[in-house]
Amino acid sequence: MRPLLFTLLVTFATTATAAERRATLTVDTRDAPRRILHVQETLPATPGAMTLRYPKWIPGEHGPNGPVVDVAGLVVRAGGKTLVWHRDDVDLYAFHIDVPRGAASVEVSFDYLAPAEREDGYSSAGSTTAELLALEWNLVVMYPEGVSERELVISPRLLLPHGWKYGTALETARASGDSVDFKPVTLEMLVDSPVIAGAFFRSFALGGEPAHTLDVVADSEGALAIEPAHLEALKRLVVEAGALFGARHYARYHFLLTLSDKVAHFGLEHHQSSDNRTRERFFIDRDARLLSSGLLPHEFVHSWNGKFRRPLGLATDGFDKPMKGDLLWVYEGLTNYLGWVLAMRSGLVSPDWWHDDLAQTAASMDTRAGRSWRPLEDTAIGAQLQGRSSQAWQSWRRSLDYYPEGTLLWLDVDVAIRQRSGGAKSLDDFARAFYGGPNKGPEVKPYTLDDITTTLDGIVANDWKAFFAARVDRIEPHAPLGGITGGGWRLVYNDKPNERDKALGKDDKLASYSYSLGFAIRNDGSVTDVIPGTPAAKAGLGPAMKILGVDGRKLTHDSIADALKLRRGTIELLVSNSDFYKILKVDYRGGARHPHLEREAGKTDLLEAIGRPRQTSTSPTK
Ligand SMILES: [Zn+2]
Repeated sequence: MRPLLFTLLVTFATTATAAERRATLTVDTRDAPRRILHVQETLPATPGAMTLRYPKWIPGEHGPNGPVVDVAGLVVRAGGKTLVWHRDDVDLYAFHIDVPRGAASVEVSFDYLAPAEREDGYSSAGSTTAELLALEWNLVVMYPEGVSERELVISPRLLLPHGWKYGTALETARASGDSVDFKPVTLEMLVDSPVIAGAFFRSFALGGEPAHTLDVVADSEGALAIEPAHLEALKRLVVEAGALFGARHYARYHFLLTLSDKVAHFGLEHHQSSDNRTRERFFIDRDARLLSSGLLPHEFVHSWNGKFRRPLGLATDGFDKPMKGDLLWVYEGLTNYLGWVLAMRSGLVSPDWWHDDLAQTAASMDTRAGRSWRPLEDTAIGAQLQGRSSQAWQSWRRSLDYYPEGTLLWLDVDVAIRQRSGGAKSLDDFARAFYGGPNKGPEVKPYTLDDITTTLDGIVANDWKAFFAARVDRIEPHAPLGGITGGGWRLVYNDKPNERDKALGKDDKLASYSYSLGFAIRNDGSVTDVIPGTPAAKAGLGPAMKILGVDGRKLTHDSIADALKLRRGTIELLVSNSDFYKILKVDYRGGARHPHLEREAGKTDLLEAIGRPRQTSTSPTK
């Protein structure tokens, strides 16, 4: 950034009046099916040097993910003239202009080139199909540097493809034909209030006070057919979340759900809504539903943990401000855990499913080769880049481990509170204390690790700092399994397939032999990961190779299963590696090993107590 310009911008910020901080934004999505969105904005301006910014650091994505490379056709006008713009040559998200004398606003137009189909990434990945659109506003907005996102007030308008319906937490001011005007909101709230729209749309009232709504778009009408039991479980989720936190911090809440196999699959949290994207057959296929059963509860929990209470390093003011992810093991880890707790209490999943999921998480974290060099906290600090890393050598590099290991960690905390208080207290008490208070609508209360440990100490006395230091800051060869063992269970391996892995195999075509031979593959044999130190790794197998045959026969899951069953001592893998073929001899006679939880006789079942509904009676959706 050029120092001279900076001085001018400060002047700009302090002299702009409230009336000048109003902007309009029109996003024309009528070309969404061909993956191009047209943007027109009127932004407040004062004569002289001015910088327009495109959002870079995206809340909830924890990284500099704003896809400025997908901006095209930028034109800036003021006072009837086209202005010359100049991109900053260091900060590529900043565009410098010179506003002519007498102009009080600038008109900005550009296109956002939406990537086709699924690609890795979050909101900047595939978000449109022929039939639907999931829109995060940070993709389609520029703003004047120097005006706070909490002060710039924007009147958004959306033009939709003919006949498409929409869902959002934004309030509609006026809708006519395919044009929708939303009530003015601050830039911060706009970016916090995505819209989904599509030809196949349904909306369901989920009850609660304030009102909760499930808005769904899908790539087919058939995909909208939610089972009554599933809908009932989502209504219980609303009730159970209220019972867990004892408070809400929104004026209304919309679960926005996009069902498509052509968009990127993830969830993104917001104060008053969540942008959830998963498989098209989520409502109608049991495996698809179970595999994503944690998605809506997770994103819902974020309204309290992540949006309302937020680590100081992530509570930035301005999309150009770098974020610090060191407490993501609280932001994401605790959300992951509480999401599962609520999924259990509302009956979205059965205890058996939760146990298999937990076993899979425990086994995968416990066998992470990268535990030998990398503490959990470092996976959180590295989050802003980690999201883009390859899956290859995942066990060795460690991935976004603060999510799954966070589940184990916070189960450990919950069980420790229950044990130390003789069953009188639990993590629910922490949730009420930490996330309570009156509902003033969307609000951010930043926190530090000290705030967490002090609140925990108020529930039950313990050296919580030391507790977390041992599990988070230090290199620790084993995953924190204290919540499982203290909860009356133990992690075991046997030849019975894990239900979650079975569903994953059918749906995402992934098969894990991680705990026997030491690798994971897709159905076509391509190796996604190899765990260092395992028999397959010692035999020379690596990611990106492809297994073509097992013991002289074409690869199928049966051929691997049969070879494991025979326990001959050596399993021969015919492998292709770029253009070359090789036979690798894997020295292994242990048989199949799949992770499960097993009850520890004589110990109280705390997992059952944790999953028991507080407010509602449940019968898990089958
Ligand atoms: Zn999350």
